[in-house]
Amino acid sequence: MTEKKKTGIKIIPSKNPMPLQDHKLRASNFDEVALGYDYETAVAEASRCLQCKNAPCSRGCPVEIDIPEFLRLAALGNFKAAISKIKEKNTLPGVCGRVCPQESQCEKDCTLGIKHQPVSIGRVERFCADFELADKEDKITNKLIPPSSGYKVAIVGSGPAGLTCAADLAKEGHRVTVFEALHVAGGVLMYGIPEFRLPKGIVEAEVKNVVDLGVEIELNSVVGRLVTIDQLLDEEGYNAVFIGTGAGLPYFMGIPGENLCGVYSANEFLTRTNLMKAYLFPQWDTPIKIGKRVVVLGGGNVAMDAARTALRLGAEESIIVYRRSEKELPARAEEVEHAYEEGVKFYYLTNPVKLLGDEDGIVSGMECLKYELGEPDATGRRSPIAVKGSEHIIEADTIVVAIGQGPNELVPMTTKGLETNKKGNIIADPETGATSRPGVFAGGDVVTGAATVILAMGAGKLGAKSIHEYLLNSKIDKPLGREGN
Ligand SMILES: Cc1cc2nc3c(=O)[nH]c(=O)nc-3n(C[C@H](O)[C@H](O)[C@H](O)COP(=O)(O)OP(=O)(O)OC[C@H]3O[C@@H](n4cnc5c(N)ncnc54)[C@H](O)[C@@H]3O)c2cc1C
Repeated sequence: MTEKKKTGIKIIPSKNPMPLQDHKLRASNFDEVALGYDYETAVAEASRCLQCKNAPCSRGCPVEIDIPEFLRLAALGNFKAAISKIKEKNTLPGVCGRVCPQESQCEKDCTLGIKHQPVSIGRVERFCADFELADKEDKITNKLIPPSSGYKVAIVGSGPAGLTCAADLAKEGHRVTVFEALHVAGGVLMYGIPEFRLPKGIVEAEVKNVVDLGVEIELNSVVGRLVTIDQLLDEEGYNAVFIGTGAGLPYFMGIPGENLCGVYSANEFLTRTNLMKAYLFPQWDTPIKIGKRVVVLGGGNVAMDAARTALRLGAEESIIVYRRSEKELPARAEEVEHAYEEGVKFYYLTNPVKLLGDEDGIVSGMECLKYELGEPDATGRRSPIAVKGSEHIIEADTIVVAIGQGPNELVPMTTKGLETNKKGNIIADPETGATSRPGVFAGGDVVTGAATVILAMGAGKLGAKSIHEYLLNSKIDKPLGREGN
């Protein structure tokens, strides 16, 4: 699909850049930063694909999209067929096209990337998804719902793992109910990732596609409180359960001062902003306290989201404090670049030992140490070593702790025979997603610890395949009868 000179040498056009909202303007609004390709650019980018027979890109995709084929269709301008091809495997293409770390998945394995820049697979995927969402008349790809199998499956959690598992099971004809603790479906896609990276309208539209497959979503339903997994299986007639409850429990540093007013976990800070629309207070009910100087502790995607959100909420200064150097930042390079452009400051090799407050218990800053990097630790990253005598104060009106999250223990605590590891993650067979409890499967962050959207979706897919096989092979009674009525 690339042009050929008369010499026969292929000219490889450069990757098409993503148009962005101006950085000065966007730092004070919640509109999407990346504006998306237009029709011609999407065709041009898809046309860069070499159509490799062995499709290394697809092997790098946890949900195994036939990437060369969707790019071939997109290169022809046939976006309806392209999105149809994507949706054979991916339930959330508009989400993935925006937030997947393609540079470490499909694009990492793109043959073009060996000598040139890889195809921007995610950007074309996003265009295809948006193209379909804009086409109000004809959503061809979700119309066929198979006859009922007679089996009932419960999914706990409506994040990317749960939604993917639900959609794949519904496509097999099983009756699926998703139990979601919050008042909206989508998990981190709704409450964590900010509007300026992932508009909530996109998530809502893709959740609706799942519901259109016949999946029921019960909101405000905390499994472990309202109903237990044992009750779902023994009393409510469900034949199997998939647990996709994520890793929503914030970690703290365990240093003095973390309970001062004005100290938030990133989880609370982002939930108030994204889910409760604190940035629209007082039109919306939930406020958020934001001072002139916000300090965010951590260096991952969550920290970048919190620091960029703080600027948009009106902070004059937003500072990332990270104990390693820029090279070790775990956040996506693109997110770090966008944060720099918007004016977020970075204090590297620095970490607090104590948070400080005034006499009213309101945070005023933190006592920090400087660090040097020593030998690599178990994660392969160089360990930070405190420099003696480097104590110093960093002033702050608001502190956001973004050093990681773990799984909530409610479901394991209330489910008989469900094994977890010492971090509280549910133990599931990597080949099947089966847990220690027959008929109960699990996947996503609750199994792996905080990871990525596409890995959670891959786990949801695996869970659905295993549950389908389990139902067909186990000869259990069909609560809905043969016809599934
Ligand atoms: C701020 C932030 C930014 C991120 N940015 C990116 C990014 O750019 N790219 C990327 O790939 N990944 C990103 N991630 C990680 C990614 O979002 C997660 O890996 C992914 O959402 C995990 O999916 P999941 O389905 O396992 O869990 P979740 O998305 O956490 O969903 C779990 C759902 O289960 C519900 N639940 C929990 N307990 C119960 C219960 N007892 N009963 C009923 N429901 C329950 C929760 O309310 C939630 O809705 C980010 C994460 C955060 C926090």
